[in-house]
Amino acid sequence: MRFAPSPTGQLHVGNARTALFNWLFARQNGGSMVLRIEDTDIERSEVRFEDQLIADLKWLGLDWDEGPDLGGPYVPYRQSDRLDLYREQARRLLNEGTAYLCFCTEEELQKERERAQAEHRQSIYSGKCRAIDPEQAKRRKAAGEAAAIRLRIPEHPLRFHDIVHGTVEFSNEVVSDPIILRSNGMPVYNYVVVIDDGLMKITHVIRGDDHLSNTPKQVALYEALGWPVPEFAHLSTILGGDRERLSKRHGATSIANFREMGVLPEALMNYLALLGWAPSGGTREIFSKEELVKEFSLERVTPSPAVFDMEKLYWLNRHYIKKRPVADFYNQALSFFVRAGLLSPEGESGRGASLMLPAGFREWFLKIIELLVPSVDRVEQLPERASFIFNYDANAALAAPDNAEVLNWPHTDAVISRFTSKILEDESAKSGHLTPERFKAIVNEVEAESGTKGKELFHPIRIMVTGSHSGPEFDKLIPIIEEGSRLQLPKHVLSVCERVQAFAKALANKTEPRISTNQHA
Ligand code: GLU
Repeated sequence: MRFAPSPTGQLHVGNARTALFNWLFARQNGGSMVLRIEDTDIERSEVRFEDQLIADLKWLGLDWDEGPDLGGPYVPYRQSDRLDLYREQARRLLNEGTAYLCFCTEEELQKERERAQAEHRQSIYSGKCRAIDPEQAKRRKAAGEAAAIRLRIPEHPLRFHDIVHGTVEFSNEVVSDPIILRSNGMPVYNYVVVIDDGLMKITHVIRGDDHLSNTPKQVALYEALGWPVPEFAHLSTILGGDRERLSKRHGATSIANFREMGVLPEALMNYLALLGWAPSGGTREIFSKEELVKEFSLERVTPSPAVFDMEKLYWLNRHYIKKRPVADFYNQALSFFVRAGLLSPEGESGRGASLMLPAGFREWFLKIIELLVPSVDRVEQLPERASFIFNYDANAALAAPDNAEVLNWPHTDAVISRFTSKILEDESAKSGHLTPERFKAIVNEVEAESGTKGKELFHPIRIMVTGSHSGPEFDKLIPIIEEGSRLQLPKHVLSVCERVQAFAKALANKTEPRISTNQHA
């Protein structure tokens, strides 16, 4: 098996799925997995993309047995290092007469193409140079005339077996004699891929179905080289929700995008496996890597396009997030919080400025992650969920349309005033040491004195403490708020007492508006 990416950009979901299916098939059948870098397009290939590809594949949880980073029995594994091999085999084909020299200039070929277009027929190379006597052709080339090498397409239909598509046949009439080596000596994709797959003893070629139409030329090449034709499996295109080919327009499409937003590799791997494949008999969707190796079957891959469903990926991600220890999210969450400005000194975005975090911060921050991570789709959503801990805003809480109903309930004023005076007088709350037990005792007193219970009691209190009437349990939240207020953070976290105080002040300002001194308007 091989995965043969071109290092011309980021690794996208389509290619990652191709890599995964190859890997699953290899691991399942005890085969060898080869990573081959197809960098014959020198203008668009870049080393940084190759490094990124390798990093992305490893992050996803894939590995290989041979490759540019590992070596192996068929070195080198980068096409740009294999040019001699391609030229050697091209000379062989030329000598054996299955390939020929072509002297057609670009202008002549362009004219042929235009003529075909005008006559509304497919543009197929006329085969003009096929008839040139090989000896004469050699002499012309030796005399300095520019010549490409073309393969002679045989006079019979080109047939191959595809595990996904069944038997596929192309009439030789519709296949041009392909150029294998350009006149500048550079080999062409359809040719190098066959030389490499042949020499590297690849038995199964799994790749995107954009290569389906290239396959007859490749089959003709195997035939000319006298090499066995591998089994093919062409995977369907991946579409966006609008049934258009998946592209940047649809949002995140590269593996790096998903990693950066806090999608876990096991979730992405599980999701990619379901793009075009489903297990036999059943609707099961959650598969660990080991289970995929066991259950996956190429025969059950569908030829119809797969639609990328972001919500399903997030659903899987939620599942896998809950299975990880919270410490796994520490670093990524920290960088998201810094970026969101929650952990940086006032007025600084945090980028560049080194962040001084006090002793005890890690334990505290892990508690925040533990509290909130079960409710997010992806790690990048944590700062927004945690914002109320860092940015308590009493005025916003009072003005929020969402809170309006609760604030107008008949008992709300009584709850607010009782809770406020009790908290402001409580010694533990004043020093930022309110415990969940003490908090509960205070709430019980408010309950008894105001004669309210349930949400009529809790919703107003929640608004005072968090700014919103819904949110995580107080038992876990109170210690986080209190501990946060005692840590020397770049931006002070308000204690429960400070929140209640700010709320009372904002409420007073709201109910007794200041007399406007602005007489000009
Ligand atoms: N380098 C080709 C691509 O990235 C791979 C083609 C193949 O797998 O044969 O599309």
